Amino acid sequence: MSEQEFKRALGYANAAIDLLKRATIPPYPQFYELLYTYATGVNPGLNARINAIFREGDPTIDLAERLYNEFLRAQDATERISSVSERMSARIESVHQAIDTALATASDFSGVLQHADAGLSGEMDSDAVKAMAQRLLAETRRMQDANHKLEQKLVASREDVAALQRDLDDVRREAMLDPLTKLFNRKYFDEGLVKAIVRAADGGGPLSLILLDIDEFKRFNDTWGHQTGDQVLRLVAMTLKSNIKGRDIAARYGGEEFAAILPQTDLEGAVIVADNIRKAIQSKELLKRSTNEKLGRITASFGVASFRAGDTPSTLIERADRCLYAAKNGGRNRVLPESDLKPQEIAAA
Ligand code: GH3
Ligand code: MG
Ligand code: MG
Repeated sequence: MSEQEFKRALGYANAAIDLLKRATIPPYPQFYELLYTYATGVNPGLNARINAIFREGDPTIDLAERLYNEFLRAQDATERISSVSERMSARIESVHQAIDTALATASDFSGVLQHADAGLSGEMDSDAVKAMAQRLLAETRRMQDANHKLEQKLVASREDVAALQRDLDDVRREAMLDPLTKLFNRKYFDEGLVKAIVRAADGGGPLSLILLDIDEFKRFNDTWGHQTGDQVLRLVAMTLKSNIKGRDIAARYGGEEFAAILPQTDLEGAVIVADNIRKAIQSKELLKRSTNEKLGRITASFGVASFRAGDTPSTLIERADRCLYAAKNGGRNRVLPESDLKPQEIAAA
């Protein structure tokens, strides 16, 4: 790194730290990265968004988290996809070259054979036959050599392509997961819900949707810090995942909101699942990892709705959301199925 580069990078670093201080955003690595990227100006979309936010006041932690997920994490996946695709192109190019060389050698060889054929049908003295045999031998060796090289390239390619395939699978898997909790992300959830509704509408059996929101989580974060809050999100995610079955989809729906799509499950069944998750979350005594300090317990509220003829993803989500809202109003730490919605709660939304 040149002295000039060092100075430039330090300038960006200082600018990022100043912005973190100014907006009182905790200087965690991801937020530093966000504002460092802003200071470099390499991502115009990100800068336009942050400028607009600064014009309206200072960004909050939640906003910073969302911006980070939107701009920087997505870029990671894109970069990785383009690296895989560059490597794939380079490998294909090298195999093409090896095939071209092998084809050229085969064509030369065929020319030599034709020539030999013509020569052998005429009169030849023993020296000429010997010279011809030597030439054929040399050409055969050249051909063997070219074939051997092609074979080696193909073997190397096969291994390379298998590694690329694994990389692509990883990128594809990551693109559907929420990085913090490793549950499915919102995008995968949205697509999964569309498919589940199509199947249910097609006579594929019942379908239920659970929405879960952690209770008083803002207070928890304010008391124990955002990073401890993130550990709790991981714990809730794990609890959710361990209480559902293979074909169900558990996703992080938003910041501290989760969702589960349960095919082949009616409202009654989904309420049982939701209540199991609720009890499991409530039963966990939280400890701060670094100090073993007791952090108490957390609870969550649940809304549960089931597919009805004519439902779209948004009507089904809306009913589950209304139930969730009613569960919060009803005192939190409870599961509220749509069958328990009061008429005014149905009308409220
Ligand atoms: P309620 O019981 O009504 O749901 O109260 P609440 O405080 O949970 O609800 P509110 O929507 O007011 O606040 C949600 C809080 O969740 C805000 C923020 O502190 C926290 N949060 C959202 N996303 C994240 C995240 O990714 N990590 C952490 N640690 N906290 C988050
Ligand atoms: Mg919420
Ligand atoms: Mg909440």
